[in-house]
Amino acid sequence: MYLLIMGPQGVGKGTQSARLSEHYGIPHISTGDIFRYNIKNHTELGQEACSYTDKGELVPDELTNRIVADRLAMDDAKNGWILDGYPRNAAQVVALDSILADLGTKLDAVIALTADKDVLLDRMQKRAAIEGRADDTPEAIAKRLAVYEHETKPLLEHYQEVGVLKQFDGTGAIEEITNRIISGLEA
Ligand code: AMP
Repeated sequence: MYLLIMGPQGVGKGTQSARLSEHYGIPHISTGDIFRYNIKNHTELGQEACSYTDKGELVPDELTNRIVADRLAMDDAKNGWILDGYPRNAAQVVALDSILADLGTKLDAVIALTADKDVLLDRMQKRAAIEGRADDTPEAIAKRLAVYEHETKPLLEHYQEVGVLKQFDGTGAIEEITNRIISGLEA
């Protein structure tokens, strides 16, 4: 299974990706997690990325595309993956197409999770209190939502046209949502 998971911040992409990763036995690859790992460990990549991530801005495409290409070429990614947080703009869609062509593979589905804005804000505030992410300040949250609306959301239309988009309601119990996605993917 080669899957993308998309949707606004707080919709549950990370939670559902982890569960789908376990269900299908494929790695969960999150660009946000890769950046956070590098920032925490003070790598060169982390130092370059944190000036963007802290503000809720996108890390430049060139850097992000390279990270994804390297990660998808690793051994554990040979039989599938669930990619979370990428692509986030039109240029990254083009880059991903080229990465997939190089790997000789294609997407099975793009999972789009949806939820009302008040549910999203509530979940983000709760997460901010629990995780204390550096980019969970009100300014960075607002910026990330705006970036999602203007740059990432329009990509759903593209994947709809390609015929791989599958939309799911991201509200309800965690298990219920996972089951909904799995049934939809297998239908
Ligand atoms: P996330 O955990 O997916 O919300 O990502 C956290 C932050 O990492 C984002 O706000 C961006 O600064 C950066 N980031 C993650 N994925 C991407 C991407 N595909 N392109 C550019 N920046 C990204």
